[in-house]
Amino acid sequence: MPNDSSILKFKVNEIFKSVQGESSYAGLACAFVRLSGCNLRCAYCDTVYAYKYGRYLTAGEIISKVDALDPHIIELTGGEPLMQKGAPQLVDLLVEYLNNKKKGRRADAIEPRLLIETSGSISIKGLNDQAVIIMDVKTPSSGSSGMMIFDNFNHLKSVDEIKFVIGDRADYEYCKNIIFEYSLAEKCGVLFSAVYGKIRPEKIIKWMLQDGVKARFQLQMHKYIWPADKKGV
Ligand code: SF4
Repeated sequence: MPNDSSILKFKVNEIFKSVQGESSYAGLACAFVRLSGCNLRCAYCDTVYAYKYGRYLTAGEIISKVDALDPHIIELTGGEPLMQKGAPQLVDLLVEYLNNKKKGRRADAIEPRLLIETSGSISIKGLNDQAVIIMDVKTPSSGSSGMMIFDNFNHLKSVDEIKFVIGDRADYEYCKNIIFEYSLAEKCGVLFSAVYGKIRPEKIIKWMLQDGVKARFQLQMHKYIWPADKKGV
C-alpha cells in the first residue's frame, strides 16, 4: 500500500455536476463521482453503463476534477462504489477535501458533505464517520435482496439514510418488516420511493399512511426531469 493514498487508482465511469435526487439532500447541487463496477444486477437498474465502462484515474485526479465543479455536496456512487479496492481511502480523501472547503465558508452556506450511495451488499464497517451513508436496501422485486449484509445496520449513524425503492406490495411488506425488525427509524432516516414505471406512487403512500410507517416518501426526481435513461444528470 503506498503511503500517499492520492496515487491510488480507481476505475471511474463519470464525474459530473447535477442536483442530488434521491435522499434528504435532493435538490441540492452535487458533484457525482460514479465508480465503475457493480456486484449486483437489479431488475430495474438504470446505470447498466457503469458495470464495465470507465477509465482509471488516481484519487488525486478525481479530486482535481471534482474541485473544478466547486461542489458543497459530493456523492460517491456507482455501480457499487465500495467494491473497488481502496474505496475507504478515497472516502477519507474526499472528506478531507470537503473539510478544507469548510474553512472560510459563510455561516449560512450549505455545509459540505460527502454522501456514499451503496447497496448495503459491501461492509460499511470502519468507513470515515464524517461521510453520510445513503444505503439503497434492495427489495425482493429487484432480484438482489439476498445480497444484503444486515450487519451494516449496526454501523449506521443518525445522519445516515436507508432508502427502499418499492415495486409492489410484497416489496412494501418486506421494507416494513425490516424497519421494524432492525428499529431502523430509530437509527437513521428512512426513505421510500417507487420503482419508476412499475407502481403508482400513490399506492405506496396510501399503504404508508394506513400503517403509520415512519418513513419519508420521495420520488426518483431525475426520472421526472430528464429522460429515464439519460446519463450524466
Ligand atoms: S446496485 Fe445499483 S448499479 Fe448495481 S445493479 Fe443495482 S441498481 Fe444497478
